Amino acid sequence: MRVFAPIAFATGLAAASLISLQAKAETFITIGTGGQTGVYYVVGQSICKLVNRGQADHSIKCTAPSTGGSVANINAIKEGSMDMGVAQSDWQAYAYTGAPEFESGKFEDLRAVFSVHGEPFTVVARADSGIETFDDLKGKRVNIGNPGSGQRGTMEVIMNALGWSKDDFSLASELKSAEQSAALGDNKVDAIVFTVGHPNGSIQEATTTTEAKLIPVEGAEIDGLVDANSYYAKATIPGGMYKGSDADTNTFGVKATFVSSASVDEETIYQVVKAVFDNFDRFKGLHPAFANLSEEDMIADGLTAPLHPGAERYYKERGWL
Ligand code: GLU
Repeated sequence: MRVFAPIAFATGLAAASLISLQAKAETFITIGTGGQTGVYYVVGQSICKLVNRGQADHSIKCTAPSTGGSVANINAIKEGSMDMGVAQSDWQAYAYTGAPEFESGKFEDLRAVFSVHGEPFTVVARADSGIETFDDLKGKRVNIGNPGSGQRGTMEVIMNALGWSKDDFSLASELKSAEQSAALGDNKVDAIVFTVGHPNGSIQEATTTTEAKLIPVEGAEIDGLVDANSYYAKATIPGGMYKGSDADTNTFGVKATFVSSASVDEETIYQVVKAVFDNFDRFKGLHPAFANLSEEDMIADGLTAPLHPGAERYYKERGWL
């Protein structure tokens, strides 16, 4: 976070007018999101839109660039190059607790702000690939996601649980989320994975540019992951949401969460949280994956790291805590 206090250049002016010339110090904040065709990008853009509307009151200027996703966002917050970001609930937990899955080491200063929509782990396969189950991915060309994305990390967690390595695929590509639907359509890969809120344009693209369908992700190892970890839950992608998948698709998933660091000041987080929840209906209208959000779930579900004090202040003010 950078704070700029404009320099008063009015030498020679009377003290009173000098004060009136001084603008309020501006605070610039950056929110880490994901690929441009995903939902995280809309989360970040929506939060910034609401924050920037209140600039006259709080002088906070918000930007939300596209990034590599969850793990990249948490790392950027840890390094101080971003102030806030969207991250899957499993990666929030792995980073805060210092689990071996989070390779850059324990991030004790990670703070939870709120959670957002649910994100089922989503597998889409070309109809001509013969893939019907997750096990059928073996020997196929699979886009396992770019390093830094949440789906890449969670795919590796699943692969570990199954005892698989990258060599179990004939090709394990590392395309970003915004590139993979086109790769599926162009027959460069047989299947793609994405941990993402529904409905979204990316899976819609994947299922309309070619004949493709959603693949269930279930079995004893998945049950084991869900039973052992509170940040995982069973999830269903409703039948009829995407072309080629008329029946419900069973899988498991996480929550998208909004996180920051203890080093970001209380007032800034308070203003960001206030911008979202004072304008909650407007926020919910900004993406169809936000339609079922509720304040109650958002301040409790999927949060492993402690709440940031600025968020806690707002929730207490509203009587929610
Ligand atoms: N869950 C994905 C990630 O952590 C991003 C999903 C999205 O872009 O909406 O990288």
